[in-house]
Amino acid sequence: MSNPVLNVKAVDKDFGGIRALDDVDLVVRQNEIVALIGPNGAGKTTFFNCITGIYTPTSGDVLVDPGATGNPVRINGKKPNKVTELGMARTFQNIRLFPSMTALENVMIGTHCRTHSAVWGAISRNKATRAEEQAVIDRSYELLRLVGLEQYVNESSANMPYGKQRRLEIARALATDPFLLLLDEPAAGMNPQETLELEELIVGLRQRYSLSIMLIEHDMKMVMSMSDRIYVLDYGRMIADGTPREIADNPAVIKAYLGES
Ligand code: ATP
Repeated sequence: MSNPVLNVKAVDKDFGGIRALDDVDLVVRQNEIVALIGPNGAGKTTFFNCITGIYTPTSGDVLVDPGATGNPVRINGKKPNKVTELGMARTFQNIRLFPSMTALENVMIGTHCRTHSAVWGAISRNKATRAEEQAVIDRSYELLRLVGLEQYVNESSANMPYGKQRRLEIARALATDPFLLLLDEPAAGMNPQETLELEELIVGLRQRYSLSIMLIEHDMKMVMSMSDRIYVLDYGRMIADGTPREIADNPAVIKAYLGES
């Protein structure tokens, strides 16, 4: 079994007197699709916030190892932009695009990190060559095409249908060249057909880029069909992890979550 690319160990997160995460362990390996599920308020978004630098865990370790070399870096307390630079990209439960920018510009922003950061430095100093600027545009256009949004290239993101905005968020996240893509409720607000197409897109991305993917999702059909492994949070505690089959048959999960849906 390969080394983990993300290894979360004994993470607690307190908000005043509330313990939102309690001794949480979780591992993601190269090329895995891992889902995090649980009832409303279980702590799922808090978990994403703790591993992407929006919150610092109260205690515990968040270790990342992009190349699965066995030499992870501890990222507790690192700022979100530093976490992105390390190769962890994220989408949000409530879409966070730049509404007045076009789809293409939104994706170009994503290229700011990593691969094209030097070019962006040159652009900001008016020193980039035409070819360098074109490389950023070409890469952004390619990503838009990959997620099926080529017809929206010059559309401002606020004018795009909701399901397309969700895809645009994924394209922008991919533009940072991540090793780990974190998706917070990617299917929220989508109809069954859109959800199916999204699932195909995500599975295809994993294949194409050898990505690891972690998603928070309430759509159980999608989670069960696309995940390699599933973790279940309940009241801030990880109550189960396993394959979709194991999770579906787990009595604690049925009681806490699946039984309620
Ligand atoms: P949902 O499925 O509804 O999105 P969730 O599993 O993502 O829920 P969180 O949003 O992580 O749950 O919330 C977990 C708990 O932590 C809740 O009790 C919530 O009220 C609390 N919480 C989250 N963020 C904060 C904060 N900034 N300050 C205080 N409490 C918070």
